[in-house]
Amino acid sequence: MKNSFSIALIAGDGIGKEVMPEGLRVVQAAAKRFDIQLELKVIDWASCDYYAAHGQMMPDDWKDQLAGCDAIYFGAVGWPATVPDHVSLWGSLLKFRREFDQYINLRPVRLFEGVPCPLANRKPGDIDYYVVRENTEGEYTSLGGTMYAGTEREIVIQESVFSRFGADRVLKYAFELANNRPRKHLTVATKSNGIAISMPWWDGRADAMSAGYPEVTMDKQHIDILSARFVLQPTRFDVVVASNLFGDILSDLGPATTGTIGLAPSANLNPDRRFPSLFEPVHGSAPDIYGKNIANPIAMIWSGALMLDFLTAGQGAGRAAHDAIVAAIEDVLKSGPRTPDLGGDASTTELGEAIAFHVAKGA
Ligand code: ATP
Ligand code: MG
Repeated sequence: MKNSFSIALIAGDGIGKEVMPEGLRVVQAAAKRFDIQLELKVIDWASCDYYAAHGQMMPDDWKDQLAGCDAIYFGAVGWPATVPDHVSLWGSLLKFRREFDQYINLRPVRLFEGVPCPLANRKPGDIDYYVVRENTEGEYTSLGGTMYAGTEREIVIQESVFSRFGADRVLKYAFELANNRPRKHLTVATKSNGIAISMPWWDGRADAMSAGYPEVTMDKQHIDILSARFVLQPTRFDVVVASNLFGDILSDLGPATTGTIGLAPSANLNPDRRFPSLFEPVHGSAPDIYGKNIANPIAMIWSGALMLDFLTAGQGAGRAAHDAIVAAIEDVLKSGPRTPDLGGDASTTELGEAIAFHVAKGA
């Protein structure tokens, strides 16, 4: 199996610039321990600083510059004081997602020991699942329009688009993921009782796909009760797959039940590997805490673990590196040091160094 990978590093804005060095520190410690070769390409664009100098977020040939990379390791983008958020976002991250066909948005949701849980009476192990969101179609389109605008008869129509190709590929990814987990359970988010055309069809695609995965148990849950169960009965979940809109909501709700946003990682995947996949923390650039070296780097570090796992297709050295990083995160969350969002007074750097130390020594 391939053992050498090229990674584009994009720190972006705000605390992206503070958590990136810590993410990289830990990724490099894991790569060294498990003998994975990484060729790093530091990118200084896709940031609001670049925008200030060039009037755009990225150079015109951005795609050519990134296309040869195996992965993009991404901090955060956005500096609303100088560039409106829709400009920075659409000018960078959303272009990557679309043009690199990153059709899976993957978010692990896990409660760690040592992190206060906003849900009462929950212990580590109660919350441990993945949300798989369809990232390219569904409810997020610009198809539709307004009739009789500005009158009492005003009508607005917004279309959703579901394709067999699009649904099948995200369902397949989710079934594969569930099949590789000990519990082998997949929950399909739906709303076929209310959305009477697309959602019964989506359920049908899930049924068809399930025929190929006899070991995976599947249940379909309407999005309303499913959301309630994320809060009330999180132990029910193992892998959850959802359309773009439902997945967007669930992939924020899930991490919110596990403590601070400073922990939540994400992956935007092109599982076909025709294009680079992108790994980033769920949080944004957090201008309110930037410059103080107090941001929690764990979301960035965990995203790096997802990256190493993906690069080796969940096997061999990359899987071992992933598991070692997650184990190190677990240890440090138990014993400290802790950044302020975790109730401590440690710095971003101290947390990164502590996790890298655990990864390197393999305890
Ligand atoms: P986005 O731009 O992605 O929509 P946002 O700008 O709404 O996100 P964030 O930048 O994620 O929001 O910040 C939301 C809040 O969470 C802020 O108060 C911020 O300080 C805090 N926060 C975000 N990331 C971290 C982190 N890694 N460590 C500690 N606090 C964080
Ligand atoms: Mg923001």
